[in-house]
Amino acid sequence: MRVAIIGGGFTGLTAAYELGKQGHDVTVFEKEKEIGGLAVGFRQKGWDWHLEKAYHHLFTNDISVLRLLRDLGLEDKLIIKRPITAILMPKIQNREKGKNSSASELNQIFQLDSPKHLLTFPYLSPVDKVRTAILFTFLKLNPFWQPLENVTAEPFFKTIGGSTSWRILWEPLMAGKFGELAPTIAASWLAARIKKRTPRLCSIEGGFQTLVTALAGAIKKNHGKILINTSVTSVPLDKFDKFLITVPTPIAARLVKFPTSYIQPLLKIPHLHAQTLILETTKPILKDVYWLNIADRSFPFLAVVAHTNFMDKKHYGSRHLTYFGNYLPQDHPYLSMTKPQILKIFLPFIKRLIRNSSIVIHNSYLFSAPFAQPVHQRHYSKIAPTIQTPIPHLYLANLDSIYPWDRGTNYAVELGQRAAREIQKRTLYGR
Ligand SMILES: Cc1cc2nc3c(=O)[nH]c(=O)nc-3n(C[C@H](O)[C@H](O)[C@H](O)COP(=O)(O)OP(=O)(O)OC[C@H]3O[C@@H](n4cnc5c(N)ncnc54)[C@H](O)[C@@H]3O)c2cc1C
Repeated sequence: MRVAIIGGGFTGLTAAYELGKQGHDVTVFEKEKEIGGLAVGFRQKGWDWHLEKAYHHLFTNDISVLRLLRDLGLEDKLIIKRPITAILMPKIQNREKGKNSSASELNQIFQLDSPKHLLTFPYLSPVDKVRTAILFTFLKLNPFWQPLENVTAEPFFKTIGGSTSWRILWEPLMAGKFGELAPTIAASWLAARIKKRTPRLCSIEGGFQTLVTALAGAIKKNHGKILINTSVTSVPLDKFDKFLITVPTPIAARLVKFPTSYIQPLLKIPHLHAQTLILETTKPILKDVYWLNIADRSFPFLAVVAHTNFMDKKHYGSRHLTYFGNYLPQDHPYLSMTKPQILKIFLPFIKRLIRNSSIVIHNSYLFSAPFAQPVHQRHYSKIAPTIQTPIPHLYLANLDSIYPWDRGTNYAVELGQRAAREIQKRTLYGR
């Protein structure tokens, strides 16, 4: 069977790998000059590892991707560490607490990634801490996510964790990520994020590109083809036996004329674009924190991810690498700005993180990815796309297919495997 796969991200590559193993003739079409999709990496002179354009790590319970690593003989490339996650609190909170500090000292960073740190977090009362702990325990143990899809996050989190904990811990992050859509996010999405998170995080020696390269090698070994720099503009339905589209739904809708009754509900799923600014510096921007959530909404970015507080800087020419990340609506001005324009906006805030000490930037990089985050509103599972489409022999498997979990490479691998099984099954039983 000849199968065309559109999109060389983790979903498309995994499906190609699985179908190739079954002896099918697969061709992957990728519009970019490199495969890897949202997890793609790049390498600079003097670096011996790739760096993902958007910060990436795995959780220790990301079973599908960890199994794939093993399947490809890469288990010894897995790195497991316990880096620090922290939160940057807004200035106003310090003033409320009556602290008399200078402007540069007002934003404080608190490690917040264990019960011990919740206990010592100064912005919650003992009652709020107990309620927050109950909320966490409930979310970690609760196996039933479906009822949480019927309510939005705010009322649910407030009912169990309390209003203060919502206002201090969650509201700024939800507003930072989803903007005006924040009040519409289903409780199941935030609950799944918390349930899934593990304190220990994993990465891959050489970067995620090591896995991408191994997958590509295995596809080619099974006689599959990967065509890079090949943007598909319409699906040539007569040239292959089956088609798997893995690009985001709004892009898929431009490639195929789907029946309106099928595609219209899917196009109602809102998406955000992702943007990362990466700074390569001599001194670290964050002292020891890997992941910093920004709860001060006056900052122009949502998260700071100090990659070299997780992976050793020796792999990157001994420079410190720090991401500044944002999720943005399609019409956000940042998406049409140049890197110097973004830097000009971000730098005063970055200086606040380093307490105004000097900063030497050796290099900086700006990346944007369209439709990188589907927005899970209430009853998402009722509208999420299924792999089979109304068009015979045409299948769709992309970020939108994943719920209640937030999309990730683990789910892309799982989805690629499911799509391969579905295509295979339909071949065996007709249709
Ligand atoms: C900021 C950010 C941080 C993330 N952090 C993590 C993390 O820490 N851990 C984790 O596991 N996951 C993370 N993810 C998610 C992870 O990267 C994705 O879930 C996963 O890579 C999705 O793979 P995919 O194949 O489904 O989609 P994509 O990677 O989007 O692949 C689709 C591919 O289709 C190609 N394409 C588009 N249009 C066409 C066309 N017309 N013709 C041909 N090709 C086309 C694209 O170039 C792309 O390569 C993060 C994502 C972002 C944006």
